[in-house]
Amino acid sequence: MSARRVAVIGGGINGLAVARQLMLDHARISVAVFEKESDVALHQSSHNSGVVHAGLYYEPGSLKARLCARGRDLIKEYCATHSLPYNECGKLVVALSEDELPHLENIFRKSVANGVPNIRIVDAEEIGKIEPNCIGIKALYSPRTAIVNYSRIAQQFAIEIRRAGSEIRLNANVTRIVEANDGVVLEGDGEPLHEAAFDHVISCAGLQSDRLAKISGDSPDPKIVPFFGQYYVIDRAFRDHVRGLIYPVPDPRFPFLGVHFTKRIDGEMTIGPNAFISFGRENYSGRCFNLKDVGDFLLYPGFWRFAVRNVPVTLRELKTVISDVAFVREAAKYVPSLSNVAVSPAVRGIRAQAMMGNGSLVDDFVIRRCGRVTHVRNAPSPGATSSMAIAEYITREILAFK
Ligand SMILES: Cc1cc2nc3c(=O)[nH]c(=O)nc-3n(C[C@H](O)[C@H](O)[C@H](O)COP(=O)(O)OP(=O)(O)OC[C@H]3O[C@@H](n4cnc5c(N)ncnc54)[C@H](O)[C@@H]3O)c2cc1C
Repeated sequence: MSARRVAVIGGGINGLAVARQLMLDHARISVAVFEKESDVALHQSSHNSGVVHAGLYYEPGSLKARLCARGRDLIKEYCATHSLPYNECGKLVVALSEDELPHLENIFRKSVANGVPNIRIVDAEEIGKIEPNCIGIKALYSPRTAIVNYSRIAQQFAIEIRRAGSEIRLNANVTRIVEANDGVVLEGDGEPLHEAAFDHVISCAGLQSDRLAKISGDSPDPKIVPFFGQYYVIDRAFRDHVRGLIYPVPDPRFPFLGVHFTKRIDGEMTIGPNAFISFGRENYSGRCFNLKDVGDFLLYPGFWRFAVRNVPVTLRELKTVISDVAFVREAAKYVPSLSNVAVSPAVRGIRAQAMMGNGSLVDDFVIRRCGRVTHVRNAPSPGATSSMAIAEYITREILAFK
């Protein structure tokens, strides 16, 4: 049998992890990665909180729960093998009031079901021992939650892929996916991007994933609706006020985790991200307005259903968008000594969040095969934590090449 030819669209952490896994699992396979940018990992994979999630929040039995648990162990091992920074700084999810306790206990139950290592509920006194400047009546403590640099991990995947002789084609924007009898052809602006057809294509296109799915004949739902998340770096003189990660109890109606204190692997302390609709899928400056991207969600009935249902949450988030003082105030509820800390804007991330036509945000990962093309249609957080497990799942369970 001749060697199988597989293409991966998207050189983010997921696309690169899939390409690497295919090469590791199958000696007789030829893999090519097509990335539209001039380098790998320029989108979500380098604009995130850098947290290796331990698996606290996810519905037991879901893909997220399973792949996050496997992924966190694989990422830890990978960082150790390749001498990449990995800091198990731990995380507190803090309840400030009695009415948050049922949610906290619910997360605890899920954490236990998901096998989160060493997870426990701590009282106010213990919160003070773990994070001396943090207040709260109870918290969930996950000592094994860690921080990394996902961009560096993705770069390392790329090094391995190239070293093993496979190609990562940069500046290769896939605009058409044509499935014929002898395989799949990828085109960019009317031209084939390669010579022979591929036996299989895996699309890991993040913020563009619904568009890639649509051009290959898959269903238009779920749709990607971009939500940006702004981060601020706090004044260096205050960064030791927080030792690790401090999160609020998340709003159960919303999949985002709320503004948190996140220690970065370079030692900086950040606050963020908030969550608000982005006027462009790749609008990192926040100053552009992409008519196609905005039109796409404005014309989507699901967006309006979502918007109407979430007016209070939207107004809360809007406050933190308009004013950095309000942003800091939100976070300083947990660490009052930082109420007046000076902050400077840091990176803005844009989440590729899938939404259904009924206005619900898709919570679980969505990865599905449509003929010879497999699409990663929803891989929000903990998508980076789970990347190596997503790669195993696609390679061994969805493709399952013999
Ligand atoms: C604000 C924020 C915070 C987050 N925090 C965390 C966290 O702490 N921990 C965690 O585990 N996860 C976190 N995540 C989620 C995580 O970053 C993503 O799940 C992960 O990076 C997704 O990787 P990806 O490769 O699927 O997508 P991306 O990194 O977005 O890569 C997709 C790639 O596809 C390319 N592409 C798109 N269209 C085409 C095309 N037509 N042709 C060729 N190439 C194309 C893009 O250029 C891009 O390089 C966060 C995300 C955000 C936005």
